[in-house]
Amino acid sequence: MKKILILVLFTIAVASFFYFDLGSQLTLANLKEQQAAFDGQYRAAPFLVIAIFFLVYVVTTAASLPGALILTLAAGALFGVVTGTIIVSFASSIGATIAFLSSRYLFRDAVKSRFGDRLKAIDNGVEKDGPFYLLTLRLVPVFPFFLINLLMGLTAIKARTFYIVSQIGMLLGTLVYVNAGTQLANIEQVGDIGSPGLLLSFAALGITPWIGKWIVARIKRRKVYAGYTKPKKYDRNLVVIGAGAAGLVSSYIAATVKAKVTLVEAGEMGGDCLNYGCVPSKALIKSAKVAQQMRHADAYGLQKTDPQYSFKAVMQRIHNVIADIAPHDSVERYTELGVDVVKGYAKIIDPWTVEIKRNDGETQRLTTRSIIVATGGAPFVPPLPGLDDVGYVTSDTLWEEFAKLDDIPKRMIILGGGPIGSELSQAFARLGSQVTQIERGSRLLSREDEDVSALAKAAQQASGVDVRTDHEALRCELVNGEKRLIVSADDKEQAIVFDALVIAVGRSARLSGFGLEELGIETGRTIVTDDILATSYPNIFAAGDVAGPYQFTHVASHQAWYASVNALFGQFRTFKADYRVIPWTTFIDPEIARVGLNEQEAREQDIAHEVTVYQMDELDRAIAESATQGFVKVLTPPGKDKILGVTIVGDHAGELLAEYVLAMKYKLGLNKILGTIHTYPTMAEANKYAAGEWKRAHAPQGLLRLVERYHSWMRG
Ligand SMILES: Cc1cc2nc3c(=O)[nH]c(=O)nc-3n(C[C@H](O)[C@H](O)[C@H](O)COP(=O)(O)OP(=O)(O)OC[C@H]3O[C@@H](n4cnc5c(N)ncnc54)[C@H](O)[C@@H]3O)c2cc1C
Repeated sequence: MKKILILVLFTIAVASFFYFDLGSQLTLANLKEQQAAFDGQYRAAPFLVIAIFFLVYVVTTAASLPGALILTLAAGALFGVVTGTIIVSFASSIGATIAFLSSRYLFRDAVKSRFGDRLKAIDNGVEKDGPFYLLTLRLVPVFPFFLINLLMGLTAIKARTFYIVSQIGMLLGTLVYVNAGTQLANIEQVGDIGSPGLLLSFAALGITPWIGKWIVARIKRRKVYAGYTKPKKYDRNLVVIGAGAAGLVSSYIAATVKAKVTLVEAGEMGGDCLNYGCVPSKALIKSAKVAQQMRHADAYGLQKTDPQYSFKAVMQRIHNVIADIAPHDSVERYTELGVDVVKGYAKIIDPWTVEIKRNDGETQRLTTRSIIVATGGAPFVPPLPGLDDVGYVTSDTLWEEFAKLDDIPKRMIILGGGPIGSELSQAFARLGSQVTQIERGSRLLSREDEDVSALAKAAQQASGVDVRTDHEALRCELVNGEKRLIVSADDKEQAIVFDALVIAVGRSARLSGFGLEELGIETGRTIVTDDILATSYPNIFAAGDVAGPYQFTHVASHQAWYASVNALFGQFRTFKADYRVIPWTTFIDPEIARVGLNEQEAREQDIAHEVTVYQMDELDRAIAESATQGFVKVLTPPGKDKILGVTIVGDHAGELLAEYVLAMKYKLGLNKILGTIHTYPTMAEANKYAAGEWKRAHAPQGLLRLVERYHSWMRG
């Protein structure tokens, strides 16, 4: 209602301006004509004239009416340089800020809901460089004054910043025009004031904030390197620390573009994903899935059976899978690709020197133009009292520890309701362990939508997992040789007995012990990097789990491209890491795959959206496979064929998602997916049918009614 009132007032102001032809008053000729009369009034009642003039100026600029320039000249002619400049400086800044606030109040929400994701990118830029942009626009008076006010109102720049920067930025232009106003008689037309020379000077002035920024960056750079001596020559173009996904890809790219690169790895080549993460967990999940299918073979007309198996053999298979994939990430392969691989522990000594305590006992020092830190992360172990007494495993240790066991632990507790905890819980439960999964929050997979969490919980329970959400682990106890975890739920304590405790409550970036502290490289939960993945030292970059914010192998590889290209070619051009389309999958059964926004994020970010859902139980292939659990959920802006995000729950959801990832990356809408032939009968058809659901909901009803009439007419 208030918005409508403001719009009405604004419309009245603009209409009156044109109706009463006020524009004809605000001309140079009129100003010259009236100057003597104005002078008389000013001498008679100076404060009243100043007040009225001030008010008229504020209203004109606030309502974005034409005439501010003539008023500025008038200020010079009437009040002289000093008083005129002061009056105009404040009146124009106040008027501009009112216009800015009105635009924000009236239109920002609408623009936000329509262009949410794009506006977010602009807001991020404005947050960083907004005052610089604004100052430039204000310093160069050729940019339309009213447009700057209205457009800036749509961004997230603070009103106070807007006012202060506007007042400073417009001061010089104001002075020039007010001064010109004192020479009113000599001005034939407004264009006379803005001679090419003057405008050029303004333009030169406009770039001074950027020159200033560049100088500040240079000073900062010098400061950060102060006290270090830059080598005259370097042994390497690049040293990469850590041979997980991020380090491997970084060094591979460097070698491909013929840079001299050393890759240092303290542990196993391939890092977490190959040795302790994605690969072993997916191998375990496969065995568990087969066991589950045997248990429920009757669903396929076969005799169901309680799977008999050797846990040792299952664990051995996992290690065999790791061994089969290991050659892809091996020292031999990377050496062949042109990477100098060193097994040992790396430490950054100064911005250009890395010291390696090699596994063969030697110490090696390398000077290098650039460094990429790709040291990954490690499982976070909460400080639970009694934890060390009962013993525990994490994703880092369980593959080795469980490989030593003859049988699967009978009673397991898995602490953590995130993707890793959920995958492990379901797999071990399906292999026959009594698994209790403990989650402090109210639901599993809390980043996903509530309906997805509910499906995940049901799937866990169907696999035999005792899911305990809203349960907080308090301490561990060893009583008469029995291991217990004490949890709190509904303000009551309970003891859960276990044979093995798996901690999977999250992973922390590896940040200490290799020189970051000594160099003062800024860290939080991860290493702090800028848009191009550079740390506070412009030649030291970070990628992968250590850089965050995502903890996925494919994101680590994606970042590696940016880190290595920026590290090697940053003098010519830098590339900002692009996180617009990041997919991920949680490999429980049914799989849960997502790209872009889900409903809860869209709500949190106040992004207007429509939801289209296609249920898997309608899909022929899913029915044939007895895999009807799940859905494809697509978010689109209301009435627009643009994909904001997709969640797929179902068999092979991770594979199905790829089509939507491609569509989002290349800005293809649902019409394009609908118009693409999908093989029958495949699970991938679910993507097309989801697009079909969306299309049906947006069918042009009016046109269809007309067509119906046409057909009936054709039938005679
Ligand atoms: C159980 C589990 C399942 C997972 N499943 C998936 C999945 O299905 N899909 C997915 O995308 N992601 C998954 N992840 C996450 C994935 O493993 C990580 O995101 C990925 O490994 C990160 O790669 P990275 O290169 O950043 O670090 P890492 O793989 O951790 O590599 C870092 C390497 O740096 C070495 N290092 C550290 N410090 C030094 C030093 N000072 N000198 C020399 N070397 C050093 C370490 O030894 C390590 O090998 C899973 C993780 C876990 C734990």
